[in-house]
Amino acid sequence: MAACVVAAAALTVSHVSLSARETMKAERETFMLGTLINISAYGSDKSSLDAAISAAMEEISRLEQLFSVGIASSEISRINAAPTLEGGHTVSPETYELLAQSLREAEETEGAFDPTVGALVGLWGIGTDHTRVPDDFEIAELLPDIGYRKVALLQALDEEDPSQTIYRVSLGKGRQLDLGAIAKGYAADRAARIMRASGVKSALLNLGGDLVAIGEPPKRRGWRLALRDPYGGRGDYFAVITVSDSVVVTSGAYERFFEQDGVRYHHILNPATGRPAVTDLVSVSVVMEQNEARENGARCDALSTALFVMGSEKARAFLDKHKEVQAILISEKDGEHSVYVTDGLKNIVTYSDNAFLQANGGKNNAR
Ligand code: AMP
Ligand code: MG
Repeated sequence: MAACVVAAAALTVSHVSLSARETMKAERETFMLGTLINISAYGSDKSSLDAAISAAMEEISRLEQLFSVGIASSEISRINAAPTLEGGHTVSPETYELLAQSLREAEETEGAFDPTVGALVGLWGIGTDHTRVPDDFEIAELLPDIGYRKVALLQALDEEDPSQTIYRVSLGKGRQLDLGAIAKGYAADRAARIMRASGVKSALLNLGGDLVAIGEPPKRRGWRLALRDPYGGRGDYFAVITVSDSVVVTSGAYERFFEQDGVRYHHILNPATGRPAVTDLVSVSVVMEQNEARENGARCDALSTALFVMGSEKARAFLDKHKEVQAILISEKDGEHSVYVTDGLKNIVTYSDNAFLQANGGKNNAR
């Protein structure tokens, strides 16, 4: 297969040899969670690969029905429609788990990632055809209601059936959830869990640029994943990283934006200002180990958004403290870009053009 271009920040450039007679490939692509989802898997039995992909896709669809703010009947939409409901909303274990993790990531990133940005996302019309620049007072009016700390999660044993746990969420006045910065990563974790449980040893899941690489591709050591060049077009990439059993998530200003009066407004908001984050970062890719024991997709997704909001200085300080998190940061100052790569990635990144090599001290760190 030739370079397979996908709609988001990363794409696979793996040229997989199918010459081994016993290796079969199954692949499916569909549109869910507001993005293109592609899953490919390799193994000796095509029908079991197909079944595993179907099960993974069904899981993503089920989660979309729970989390999507674009689906009026989703649990998140239901909570948003009645944020002050007395006693809170009863939700599924998955919604509860994702919200609990969202609050942990918000805490860890000191609110750079904040799942309560929903009202702001709505005000700017992000993700809709009605994007607009709000007035200062509209933003000021909403800001007091933004804040993950005010979300209350409660779990209790069901009084009627103590073998069951009840999960509840209370949002509070004016607050609106938006899990757009973490839900794809969570869904990627869950889909990968199903693929692995189905016996798949080699697969690549791409949820609109949130990538999970399971095992290794046939006859190759590691999946070669291309990282989108933020200055280029959809098919251009600035680096390739070679990974196995890993998750790779990229956030960038170039992914979604609109222009008004010559000013560009992107989709990642600073929850503290209510406006698109003013940051020297152009693109943030976060890479973590991903396996049965450490699923990490949701965390990677939240962190890619959060590091982008933080800007390179704070992001680097964060990465210094959290050694399990690997990242590639592209920043820009006075029209010049530079690339920062954490130590854990230095041996697995290959840059695809000299400009990026020079920006990284002229060294190509590829093996
Ligand atoms: P991502 O593409 O993962 O960086 O997520 C961006 C999406 O998450 C946006 O389209 C919004 O729906 C939402 N979002 C924007 N800014 C934030 C933020 N600071 N914290 C949490 N979610 C955000
Ligand atoms: Mg994210």
